[in-house]
Amino acid sequence: MNQNLFDTLATRMEARGTANFITTPEGKGYSYAEALAITERIAGALKQLGVKPGDRVAVQVDKSPEAILLYLATLRVGGVYLPLNTGYTADEIGYFLGDAEPALFVCQPEALDAAKAIAAETGCPRVETLGTSADGSLMDVVASAEAFTGIEQRSDDDLAAILYTSGTTGRSKGAMLTHKNLGSNGRSLVEAWRFTENDRLIHALPIFHTHGLFVACNVMLISGGSLYFMSKFDVDTIIAAMPEGTALMGVPTFYTRLLQDDRLTPELTANMRLFTSGSAPLTAETHQQFEQRTGHAILERYGMTETNMNTSNPYDGDRIAGTVGMPLPGVEIRITNPETGDHQPLPQGEIGMLEVRGPNVFKGYWRMPEKTRAELLDDGFFVTGDLAVIDERGYVQIVGRDKDLVISGGFNVYPKEVEQVIDAMPEVMESAVIGVPHPDFGEGVTAVVVLLPGQKLEETDVIKALAGHLAKFKQPKRVFFVEALPRNTMGKVQKKQLRDQYKDIYQDT
Ligand code: ATP
Ligand code: MG
Repeated sequence: MNQNLFDTLATRMEARGTANFITTPEGKGYSYAEALAITERIAGALKQLGVKPGDRVAVQVDKSPEAILLYLATLRVGGVYLPLNTGYTADEIGYFLGDAEPALFVCQPEALDAAKAIAAETGCPRVETLGTSADGSLMDVVASAEAFTGIEQRSDDDLAAILYTSGTTGRSKGAMLTHKNLGSNGRSLVEAWRFTENDRLIHALPIFHTHGLFVACNVMLISGGSLYFMSKFDVDTIIAAMPEGTALMGVPTFYTRLLQDDRLTPELTANMRLFTSGSAPLTAETHQQFEQRTGHAILERYGMTETNMNTSNPYDGDRIAGTVGMPLPGVEIRITNPETGDHQPLPQGEIGMLEVRGPNVFKGYWRMPEKTRAELLDDGFFVTGDLAVIDERGYVQIVGRDKDLVISGGFNVYPKEVEQVIDAMPEVMESAVIGVPHPDFGEGVTAVVVLLPGQKLEETDVIKALAGHLAKFKQPKRVFFVEALPRNTMGKVQKKQLRDQYKDIYQDT
């Protein structure tokens, strides 16, 4: 079967003709036919700039409809799309360009001079902007290039994209994603979440991560629905969009922020049929509060850059708070013992390493053969680094990351278990539990707590309150209060940063 991802997307785009593909709150927009025509022109420009099948096209641009068309045009010419976080600094970009060796780097107009310098250092042959700069804008090339209406054929196993992981646990790794990975996952999600041409997805995620780019955009392109494309998350704009929207794909912080607004009611969300959450754990409280306020049970799912989406709560059937649901069709998971590393399934109900296999699983890390061999096993399973347990109904619960597990006095402490108890205190908004070096225990359980506005607590109050709920070895030895937890754009708590910040606190004890 021909698995060129662009072929699949183009077929749908052609069929949808004048139907709306994308609109922004500022009133910009393209029908499917217009989007297809511009994609052909950008593809022509890419050809003229020398992009050949298999070449990487690195892109660091603000979110816009044109950025999505650039993604589609890259697939059309057989290129490998490589989006970069818009927050990366010049040094970081230098690292990624050196690592990925793209044939072309597309940047923001205001970054052009810096980008050219980095490109010269890293050997990247071309830099263009997506703006209308007099100095070499891709759009200028688009205006003069001949449209490319063909499609460079790629096989299932050819790369469609390299996506760098979020860098939560260390330096970001380039995940090599094939046409099969992205096509199969997109189709599977359209079916699982019942997307149709009638959907209008409120899109408020960044487009340099798998969530905002592949989950949201590929799913809409495959289903033929339309995207309401916000440049960034903003409560007012989302609330204004809900009466005409049908779905929102979010991260947990979207929902906690929306819950702070009185306008969130069943009436406001009456036209909406689906709210999803992923990228970071959704607390049971947020899930319950959102359901009470709107009547909608948020559908939580679990995925990662390397595997796209792995599991999802059911569209029909119980969406259970605190779980990420069950494997999507074609995806297999097993829970194994991380200590022995024998990769043999543990009995149901035991916590262990979550491993996943299926057409969604990536081809390996770009230029990291050893890491790839260690994590992508011969039998096709990928070792996710996430600890999980499967309950008796088959629902998966993510317990936390293997790297965040705290081992104190020889005992395993799962931070999430401690965080849940702290979060249940009426004064607390949220917390993060980490392990930091401790002379007696190896690691000392440490809590970093954010209080609700106007609340006051002392360190000893928290420690005392936990005593009745958690075994001694799980209780934090120190508690710190902060205004906010450090999070990245996807709302992931940066525990590595917290561990660095508090690394010396037990050194004198
Ligand atoms: P890095 O691999 O560079 O350290 P990262 O793992 O945060 O960064 P991503 O691929 O963006 O990079 O994120 C995937 C991770 O996000 C998963 O491995 C998991 O830990 C977490 N995650 C995603 N969805 C959920 C969810 N619903 N509940 C809990 N954790 C989730
Ligand atoms: Mg990861």
